[in-house]
Amino acid sequence: MKSSKILFVVAALISASFAFAADAAKDAAPHKGKCCVKAEKEGKTCAHECCVAAAKEHKNCEKCGGTNAPAAAKH
Ligand SMILES: [Zn+2]
Ligand SMILES: [Zn+2]
Ligand SMILES: [Zn+2]
Repeated sequence: MKSSKILFVVAALISASFAFAADAAKDAAPHKGKCCVKAEKEGKTCAHECCVAAAKEHKNCEKCGGTNAPAAAKH
């Protein structure tokens, strides 16, 4: 039954990679958009309208590639 062994290994590899992906997503911290990071490096705040609006809500601009912590994670 060689083929069942191979299937087992493949299944193990797939589940391992899924677990890794889930961990990576968990560890991914919210980050700002590139434009905001660039502005920050220059000692400024990003002048993009969308980023200013997001900053007012204490969020990172998702339009410019920023990410925010999912609301469900906060209680
Ligand atoms: Zn920005
Ligand atoms: Zn923006
Ligand atoms: Zn921007």
